[in-house]
Amino acid sequence: MKICTLCGKEYDEAAARSLYAEAGEWLAGEVWQDSGELCQLCLENRARLVMMYHSEYNS
Ligand SMILES: [Zn+2]
Repeated sequence: MKICTLCGKEYDEAAARSLYAEAGEWLAGEVWQDSGELCQLCLENRARLVMMYHSEYNS
């Protein structure tokens, strides 16, 4: 188990990821440079926020 650097909760790195979590993981590597340090929930939240505020990604 690892500790999420954002919310401080334990998470399982090997757990199956949702589409949003995959997108969040990509963003973590490309944009925030904290890939592999966030839990799935935080990755999902981040991906949702990005998609909300950058609606051009949806088209
Ligand atoms: Zn988290």
